[in-house]
Amino acid sequence: MERITEQQVLAALSGVVEPAAGRDIVSLGMVSGVVVRDGNVGFSIEVDPRKGAQMEPMRKEAESKVQTLPGVVSVTAVLTAHKEAPAGTAQSSHGAGPGSPSKQAPGQAARALVPGVRAIVAVASGKGGVGKSTTTTNLAVALASLGLKVGVLDADIYGPSQPRMLGIAGRPTSPDGKILRPMENYGLKCMSMGFLVAEDTPMIWRGPMVQSALQQMLRDVEWGELDILVVDMPPGTGDAQLSMSQQVPLAGAVIVSTPQDIALLDARKGLNMFRKVDVPVLGIVENMSMFICPNCGHESHIFSHGGAEREAERLGIEFLGGIPLDIEIRETSDSGRPIVVSNPDSAHAQAYVKIAQRVWDKVAAGLADGQRTAPHIVMQ
Ligand code: ADP
Repeated sequence: MERITEQQVLAALSGVVEPAAGRDIVSLGMVSGVVVRDGNVGFSIEVDPRKGAQMEPMRKEAESKVQTLPGVVSVTAVLTAHKEAPAGTAQSSHGAGPGSPSKQAPGQAARALVPGVRAIVAVASGKGGVGKSTTTTNLAVALASLGLKVGVLDADIYGPSQPRMLGIAGRPTSPDGKILRPMENYGLKCMSMGFLVAEDTPMIWRGPMVQSALQQMLRDVEWGELDILVVDMPPGTGDAQLSMSQQVPLAGAVIVSTPQDIALLDARKGLNMFRKVDVPVLGIVENMSMFICPNCGHESHIFSHGGAEREAERLGIEFLGGIPLDIEIRETSDSGRPIVVSNPDSAHAQAYVKIAQRVWDKVAAGLADGQRTAPHIVMQ
């Protein structure tokens, strides 16, 4: 099958004109977060939120232009809120989040905390398909196995996979028509756009903007008391991801990468993105770090062994651990029975638990550092 490149998508989009400006949306810098996954293309168009409804025909035109590219299966264009820079400052279009004082630096101080949630941690990757969602799911269940109260917020709005990976079907209910009750499984609370739209439906957002959807999933969901909320970020390190990282009060980020990406510097982009917005990078997880033969159990290091660890050290970030490429990890995560739950004594499950313990140690140390109240772990 033909591979669609970001350049092809942008070339198609340079034929879409923003009516007020009379120029194309690419040269106006309105397009960001282009994601191409198995012929499914997603991207966002930043618009002035006041003009959301007027921009709908342009959004549709953008989708149809990309749809004509050979090999495209589906196209999802979402309108995201472009925030005006406060007068007199040279701030980028990624505002510091609703309600934030206009002069605030784009650091954590600018973000309102979510009541009841002690720490929010993002799981991010430089690109799609590296196992970010699988790592999020297993990390979350592993954190719960430590006795913590855990939530999962699936912010991968272009391709939500947490409902499937956590084996949750159905729709969340709303007792009062305003606040949604999160779904639950394996002792975790979970919220995802995937509950609100079918997984194979291309996601079309009309009135609400992606940014406000994220805000809603954070604030209009009855998370209750949580020690940690793990956020499955959309893949990539573009503007959409950057602005999400700015809006969510993150205690830290975990970067998932494969050995090749580490070599290709994709992981470094993630690191830089979080540094830009003052979010501490808790460490890097090397996924698919080696291959374990399902027949004989032999370990093959297809990519040079130890590269990730060395690279992490060079970059000054912690290497949290390596997870092998293993069929049981794929089968269990894709069928909604994460390996940490379905085979908790296996070496792979233990590897996730070790990563979870380290992540929590670092987050708890940050909390104890005076950011918030002292950590309180309940061992069950
Ligand atoms: P991402 O979120 O980065 O796009 P996913 O977590 O959806 O990636 O993983 C992509 C595919 O790779 C899924 O089918 C998943 O089950 C599989 N996968 C992820 N990690 C592993 C692993 N360590 N071993 C085997 N398969 C894996």
